[in-house]
Amino acid sequence: MSKKLTYYLLVMGCQMNESDAERLETILNSAGYQKTNNEKEADLIGVLACAVRQAPMDRIYSRAHKWNLWKEKKPLITLLSGCVLQYDQKKLAKKFDIIIDIKDISGLPAILNENKKKIEQNTNTNYLQIAPNYESTFKAYVPIMTGCNKFCSYCAVPYTRGPEISRSSVEIFTEIKDLLRKGYKEITLLGQNVNSYGNDINDLRSPHAGKTEMSFPELLHEINSWDGDFWLRFTTSHPYDMSDELIAVMAEQKHLAEYLHLPVQSGNSEVLKKMNRHYTIEHYLERLEKVRQRIPEIALSTDIIVGFCGETNQQFMDTARLMEQVGYDMAYISQYSPRPGTGAARAFQDDISRKEKKIREKYLTEILKKTAKKYHNKFIGKTTKVLVDNIKNQTSDVRSSGHRMSENILTGKNREFKNIQFKGNKKLIGQFVDVKITSATPWALDGKLVE
Ligand code: SF4
Repeated sequence: MSKKLTYYLLVMGCQMNESDAERLETILNSAGYQKTNNEKEADLIGVLACAVRQAPMDRIYSRAHKWNLWKEKKPLITLLSGCVLQYDQKKLAKKFDIIIDIKDISGLPAILNENKKKIEQNTNTNYLQIAPNYESTFKAYVPIMTGCNKFCSYCAVPYTRGPEISRSSVEIFTEIKDLLRKGYKEITLLGQNVNSYGNDINDLRSPHAGKTEMSFPELLHEINSWDGDFWLRFTTSHPYDMSDELIAVMAEQKHLAEYLHLPVQSGNSEVLKKMNRHYTIEHYLERLEKVRQRIPEIALSTDIIVGFCGETNQQFMDTARLMEQVGYDMAYISQYSPRPGTGAARAFQDDISRKEKKIREKYLTEILKKTAKKYHNKFIGKTTKVLVDNIKNQTSDVRSSGHRMSENILTGKNREFKNIQFKGNKKLIGQFVDVKITSATPWALDGKLVE
């Protein structure tokens, strides 16, 4: 019997790429390949790239160089997809055998069979209809839209993923109902900007017009009204589209978890204007106040870019003050890096030094440590419901018996998306359990299983 061909996937960046990887797996499986976690033994290596920052792209260049050296010793196919700017696509064309738009992956088996180098374009199939090969048996990402129309000046996504395209609500409901029937406990609705879900469909000029009449709040409200024991999350939101209707639906809670990721990017309205973010700090704070009025205990996280073109020290300090004022319990802080072809790369100079960006990132991280710890402290002594999702073995010395014993430490998240760890049996993975919180750090909570 001949050995099955294997593939290894390198998935970079956000949850959207992770979700896309599950669809790419389905396609590769259908082409007769089998997944491996051993990069060296793979017959095909696929990359889902992230063009949002330069660092992941640099990693792809160096990995591709290594894979091309391996090709001198054994047959190997390399494939590039995901978020790739045209600039990088051209430069990487010689380094990869196949470069394919994620929307065109249904054409991949034909390309592999023909065994030829090809940049496929526009096969016009809706790749989100491909049934994903879910990584988990109890939590799933469900993309509800792809692409973005916002054109934030620093961002590569509108160029790599194209304009917003929403899935029909019927298709989304079918996928989620199927997952819930199988016992899934957590559903995360995904999109570059989930708040503008349905805008393309409701726009009568759009080729997708009429597929559904639903807005994002209506979609959420519908899923939230279903029976069952599951949590519902969504990411990512844009402050401009954070409507009163959406806040009202979030306040229904039930399946909808008390967690909001609302990227602010900067605490200064002039910088936000240069970033083409379409809102002011006053608007952002007014939206957050409304959210907190309706859901006082909500967990809040954000994205922040430091060292954006021309960001003065005073403008940076506005961001620091905003962080203190809001008291985020998590923030993803990144240093600005220009992406070729984006508005900012064309119009502005990347004039803040690396050293200064690093200093600013560190400064904000120190604020985050304080605000996150303060929020986490609120859980101490309380019991919180946790979806157990992993195990890490921790060896501890049990001196009384003289034996070293290995203890299972389980990890999971509560509704507020906090990382929680506690001792327990690995059979609990995929289950909801109650955990009494005993201590907190800025990044996690420790607790004891309530039996
Ligand atoms: S909203 Fe802005 S940052 Fe988010 S994907 Fe769209 S362009 Fe990029």
